[in-house]
Amino acid sequence: MHDAPHAAAPDARPAAPHAVRPAGTHADLRTRLADLDGSGYRGYRALAGRWDFPGFALVVDHVQGDPFAPPSRMRVFRDSEASGLPEALCLPGPRAEGLACRIARQFAEAAGAEGGGGGPGVPEASSGPGESRGSDLSITAPGQEVLPISAVLVAPDRSVEARFTVRLPGRGRRIDGRAAARLLLEALPRVVDAALDARAYPSGDLERHALVNEDAHALREQLRARRLVAFVADGAVLPRRSGVDERPLEGAGVVMFDSPASLRITLDRPNAGPVSGMGIPVGVTLVTGGGYHGKSTLLRALTRGVWNHRPGDGREWVVTDPDAVKVRAEDGRSVAGVDISPFIGKLPGVGEGESDTRSFSTANASGSTSQAAAIVEALESGARVLLVDEDTAATNFMIRDRRMQKLVPREREPITPFVDRVRELHREMGVSSVLVLGGSGDYLDEADTVLTLDAFHCHEVTGRAREVAETCPTGRAREVLSPCVLPKPRILDPASLDPSRGRRAVSVRARGADRVAFGSSELDLSAVEPMVSVAQLRGIAEAMGWIAVGLRSGRLGGALPEILDAVEAAMDRAAGEGRTPLDALGRGTDGDLTGFRRHDLAAALNRLRGLRVEGVE
Ligand code: ADP
Ligand code: MG
Repeated sequence: MHDAPHAAAPDARPAAPHAVRPAGTHADLRTRLADLDGSGYRGYRALAGRWDFPGFALVVDHVQGDPFAPPSRMRVFRDSEASGLPEALCLPGPRAEGLACRIARQFAEAAGAEGGGGGPGVPEASSGPGESRGSDLSITAPGQEVLPISAVLVAPDRSVEARFTVRLPGRGRRIDGRAAARLLLEALPRVVDAALDARAYPSGDLERHALVNEDAHALREQLRARRLVAFVADGAVLPRRSGVDERPLEGAGVVMFDSPASLRITLDRPNAGPVSGMGIPVGVTLVTGGGYHGKSTLLRALTRGVWNHRPGDGREWVVTDPDAVKVRAEDGRSVAGVDISPFIGKLPGVGEGESDTRSFSTANASGSTSQAAAIVEALESGARVLLVDEDTAATNFMIRDRRMQKLVPREREPITPFVDRVRELHREMGVSSVLVLGGSGDYLDEADTVLTLDAFHCHEVTGRAREVAETCPTGRAREVLSPCVLPKPRILDPASLDPSRGRRAVSVRARGADRVAFGSSELDLSAVEPMVSVAQLRGIAEAMGWIAVGLRSGRLGGALPEILDAVEAAMDRAAGEGRTPLDALGRGTDGDLTGFRRHDLAAALNRLRGLRVEGVE
């Protein structure tokens, strides 16, 4: 959908309305549309510029060239007076973020209610949560997660900006001026009044969205000082409606989270006060329990707990260390120059270069090599917690039991199973693990904390697990041959990051919910979690474009972690300038991007086929 020819322009256009060429008043716009009625579609170009309405300004940034092109991009600006937003809620940071997400959802809902004029649809393989694509007015609204978005910007002075798209109506290839006037001069002001005016919201609603987000942020900030990797509040609702519906499961069968007494702690929230729940300590944590008892659901909530959730989600007070990374097996993925030797030793020589696991590259990883690569890549981008679910792990990577040790001698097995590294990762590198494992008791010896889920109720069984480990020894030998060391950060070869396609210097786009087209290659991110929306994928795609342009121009350099730092710094800088962090990427005024973590961006880069690293020894 989204080509960004200007990606990485260091001087992206300022977002302020006063910087935009004034085109006239709303009355002038009415006249203009009447004049344009019936003329060729390209005449719509005359709408570019700023139109001053009573109570807001409309800025038309980009006009679509024909009715079938991606829709026109516009913004509205409302000053503090007209927005009526309470100053206390516009505080930059979690409050303003929660507020912006709430406003974007409201805008989407109001725009959706205006319906569509039946113009050609916008083909988008899969809409993100809340994308009101059926309507002619459309905004990218977040789903359950609350994170930085570029669709709505709330400023500390209480002014507010919304970025949206408009499918300008046509009769065939002629301008339908009357329909356009209805859309821009009637529907749009209604939407603006419904979404960008505090008085249109139920009392206390905006406050709730701002303060819940601030509280969740505050909970997460307390984790490290308390030596916790995650917190799950009592009363949390973890299950979702379905695999494709992130809203909370409802009904009598839902078991709310109740913490095991032995792990129960109380954390403080600045607004809502104390909250009790389970603190998962640093170290190695096992989640055990029978099939279908809620293990994966807990892990999924922890995986998503790196983000905040909207009020009513059920996971508002489920927070995880922001550097927690889900790792899994993903056979078939490509790997570029990753040192997987801590886990995988000498491989049978498959092809040139493939057998040296100190700089392992392949276009077609196996289950175990892909999982080893995922762990080393996570360490490289700065992960502090690894999350693993048996459902998506490679068995031969996770365990190698006594019988297998007897049958296949160590010399014939290149894999050092994760069970022999998991403690070392914590002891030597401070990297914790939370592992869902219902099928292997070999980990009982390695775990600091053992949880079990029983009909969705969580218990701590660490003591019992120790007893079992003592009375039923595994009889296996530890198979570590050398200490695990942090990977040497890789330096990307700029030539291998080509974002160009045809005549476009930079062509990056999200394709559906889990693919990114980068230049002429396409990468599959369906196995990367937590990926929350198409808009987040777009944010990542734009960041990849930004990196590629920066590397090729020499503006960016260094090893991968430094490049991730540079992206974060650029986004922080934009936020500091009163723009959305995402304005550092793309055109600088895109409304359809959502924030992401360095780990999520790294996951995308790492899956780019054709990626090469420099200095391979
Ligand atoms: P496991 O990983 O232990 O096999 P899952 O986490 O996949 O189990 O959960 C099995 C099913 O139970 C899923 O459909 C999930 O939505 C549902 N479920 C999980 N936790 C709860 C809960 N607390 N209350 C009600 N249903 C739940
Ligand atoms: Mg499971």
